[in-house]
Amino acid sequence: LEPLFSFMIRVRVPGGVASAAQWQRMDALADAYGNGTLKLTTRQTFQLHGVLKRDLRPTIQGFNDALLDSIAGCGDVNRNVMCNVNPHESVVHSEVQAVAANISAHLTPRTTAYHEIWLDGELQNTTEATDDAEPVYGKTYLPRKFKIALALPPYNDSDIFSNDIGLIAIEENGQLLGFNVAVGGGLGMTFGLPETYPRLADLIGFVPTENVVDVCEKIVTIQRDWGNRENRKLSRLKYTIDRAGLPAFVAELHQRLGYELAETRPYQFHSSSDAFGWSIASNGLAHLVLFVEGGRVLDRPGYRLKTALREISAFHTGEFRLTGNQNLILANIEPAHRVRIQAILESYGAAPQAEQFTALRRNALACVALPTCSQAFAEAERYLPQLLDKLDAVIRAYGLAEAGILIRMTGCPNGCARPYLGEIALVGKAPGRYNLYLGANHAGERLNKLYRKMLDEDGILRELAPLLAAYAAKRQLGEGFGDFVVRTGVVVATIHGLNFHA
Ligand code: SF4
Repeated sequence: LEPLFSFMIRVRVPGGVASAAQWQRMDALADAYGNGTLKLTTRQTFQLHGVLKRDLRPTIQGFNDALLDSIAGCGDVNRNVMCNVNPHESVVHSEVQAVAANISAHLTPRTTAYHEIWLDGELQNTTEATDDAEPVYGKTYLPRKFKIALALPPYNDSDIFSNDIGLIAIEENGQLLGFNVAVGGGLGMTFGLPETYPRLADLIGFVPTENVVDVCEKIVTIQRDWGNRENRKLSRLKYTIDRAGLPAFVAELHQRLGYELAETRPYQFHSSSDAFGWSIASNGLAHLVLFVEGGRVLDRPGYRLKTALREISAFHTGEFRLTGNQNLILANIEPAHRVRIQAILESYGAAPQAEQFTALRRNALACVALPTCSQAFAEAERYLPQLLDKLDAVIRAYGLAEAGILIRMTGCPNGCARPYLGEIALVGKAPGRYNLYLGANHAGERLNKLYRKMLDEDGILRELAPLLAAYAAKRQLGEGFGDFVVRTGVVVATIHGLNFHA
């Protein structure tokens, strides 16, 4: 007898934008084949957990019926393309979202195997099943996964510098001009291997909108051809660039493009957080940013978020938008639906009362970790809320309930919840033990630094309490916690990944 294998399946949602019908389908599939919950991920995708092997096919067919798929949810290809999702943030938002969708479509593998295996079982390629043409990936695909994110300043909630390619939208007088291009970001590392490190992407120039897909494609092909195929731990683009040197990489890119990138345009990021609550756009439509702790959409006694969202999806004519911070935006809400949506959320105990929670909790990110992820050394999603109960007491005692400190927890150093961009990060080292990192900033433009190793809960609280007390007493106007610990010498500022372990 075969063991009862169960799986996690990730659904690709470019830019995090799903229709109400797609939400309904994901909700139903979670009940039919998953563990009855939906996980909203830090890459703006859905994950279903606990899908039994025998149910994989009907689950994936269920995605397909709602025009969703899990192609490139995993593997050595370009993953889900991220983008700021709040349409309230910019008049050019829809254009940038369309660029994200175009990049995603262009870099989606052409293989027909997905359809053959999971959908109708028919061989799509009539000559030979293995003879798919992959114009970008070729026969070898990439040495490792590849990630792209777009952001509209001043919002960097897609944390673009943590991606292989980060694209910063540049607008002028309500017109999208193009994108600053950054390359070589990536947050994963391996404990005990100092040659692995988190790295922020380097800005290399500006590209007009019409050429941005071309630039992405050429960068991907350089990584395809230059990336390390002997050691997967050193195979991401960040290592390729540090090995070859950034000037050589840019020269190769210009040669493959046949033109040069222009000079980087000025921009400023202020925040990588979500702005919770209601906002009304100039066209009269409303947007509601909902806090979803740990990105887990579920029902529990007194809090039936999943049921509330299912009811809303039956009449909501706008979208369900997944943020890069594991939260949810009900976007483009008709004026007539606003009161009804609020009433449904309240009736199920899922109303947006962000002030009930400290800003620390609202900004927290956690990966799934144990028991779902086989890489995990420690808990994250299940444990962080308990730790936050204790940290909240400290935070409130020092009058910091509205100080939006970024805290992130992962079960291993692979970096799925972007821990090295947290002002406070806890990275699992062993069951119940975490390394503590401090000092990233809100703009997502500075890495944090290892501060203490192998802390248990008492150790975490013991280390953080005096730092939070000092922050409350001595911070400058508008100064973030990460900036404070750098300014006061608790940790040194770390911009380049090569200095991360220094
Ligand atoms: Fe798993 Fe590690 Fe990623 Fe968390 S960070 S989901 S433990 S691989």
